[in-house]
Amino acid sequence: MEKNRIKPERVPEKNNLIEWYNSLLQIAEIVDRRYPVKGTFIWLPYGLKIMKKLVEILNKIFEENSIEEVYFPLFVPLEFAKINDEWFEGFKKEAFYLEEEKVMLRPTGEPAMYPIFKYWIAEGKLPIKIVQTVSSFRKEGKTTHTMIRDREITFWHEIHTVHKTREEAYEEVEKHKKIYEFIFKEVLHIPPIIVEKPKYEIFPGAESAYEFYTILPNGKLLENGSVNNLGQSYAKKFDLFFVDEKGNKNYVWQVCTGNGARFLVAAFCLHGDERGFLIPPKIAPIQVVIITIPKGEENFLDYAYDLNKKLIKENIRSFVDESEKTPGEKFNIWDIKGVPIRIEIGEKEVEENFYTIYRRDLKERFKVEKDKVIEIIKKFLEDEIPNYLYKRVEEFYKNVIKNCKDFKELNKLIESGNIAKANWCGELKCFEEISKIGLEAIGFLEEKEKGKCIVCGKETEKLTFIGKVY
Ligand SMILES: [Zn+2]
Repeated sequence: MEKNRIKPERVPEKNNLIEWYNSLLQIAEIVDRRYPVKGTFIWLPYGLKIMKKLVEILNKIFEENSIEEVYFPLFVPLEFAKINDEWFEGFKKEAFYLEEEKVMLRPTGEPAMYPIFKYWIAEGKLPIKIVQTVSSFRKEGKTTHTMIRDREITFWHEIHTVHKTREEAYEEVEKHKKIYEFIFKEVLHIPPIIVEKPKYEIFPGAESAYEFYTILPNGKLLENGSVNNLGQSYAKKFDLFFVDEKGNKNYVWQVCTGNGARFLVAAFCLHGDERGFLIPPKIAPIQVVIITIPKGEENFLDYAYDLNKKLIKENIRSFVDESEKTPGEKFNIWDIKGVPIRIEIGEKEVEENFYTIYRRDLKERFKVEKDKVIEIIKKFLEDEIPNYLYKRVEEFYKNVIKNCKDFKELNKLIESGNIAKANWCGELKCFEEISKIGLEAIGFLEEKEKGKCIVCGKETEKLTFIGKVY
């Protein structure tokens, strides 16, 4: 066999998270970051398959919840964009414009959709429940980070729902909190962190807003999905109403949610290690890679393809790497790409009728009898790897979240890579005091505990996380 040796790829140390993350995105062939337009990147085939697996799972869940996919143009007429002046003020500097500023590229979907919802409501189509997964465009300033802060935010899904009653909108909000929780737990294997935003941080007139967060290994918080109970705030701006049996005009109640590739950032950063990424099994385009260890003229590929066929028949996404690389080089690159399971077939395996199975999460090999292989792999992919990943992140969260009662301690605690958990009254004044020292109180945790606000000392049951936020 001709050996076309390539130098094994070097993974930078994880203690510089951003360098580690950026290098791995490139060498694991998730994206190509060399596109010469700021805040954009190219999705490579392997990365695109991961993202599309996630989108596929999301769309399936949305559809099960009666939320249907639509496609609105990415161009938003400025006359629509200006209907909600607060929205326009918020985005006008961040938006990209076309055609002598009569059109903008969507920074979010509301102004494109809501004027059209007016027609649909008039046609008796309430409730409206739709999702659109496209790019959003925002002129982010100096620091763009691939998939964290982009100018073209790709695969961004936005759900918009419209209801006749307040109660129905509240039910919808609860449903969406559960959907994102499910994604975090069951698809990404990360404990969800959800907070309710204080009133001054949400859209004027909205009922409530919830945000999900991820704590990255460098101790920074990443906002990762939001669920907004818009109340009638947009309905009043866009004049969205229905007329009831008594002939009364009633404004509708609206909910919107959204997130995108940041889900993947969380999985990459939290499950990856010094050997590379680790893709959660449900979104891994390749769940099992089969690598043979040739001996003389025998390359054992027949055995590999025989097993590959069995795995595919069981709906396991399996792939035989028969490239010219050495087995060691193949082990290395598939570890970097984060394939959850590797199966090795060599002379010993064939003679003694077993497979060597390597788990990427544990970095351990198992000797598995041939007729047990399907059963074991299913158990690994469906239970053991997800549980191990989840528990490992849970453990990390436990270590990194530190109770804090003293405002003066905050900076020291966070500078050493932690997140502070503190009582916080939630008043704007106390929010601003925290912002002044370069930190952020992200909102109210579901958990409550009596104590004193870390800023003003007022008695409160409310708790928050304080940290640096991407
Ligand atoms: Zn306070």
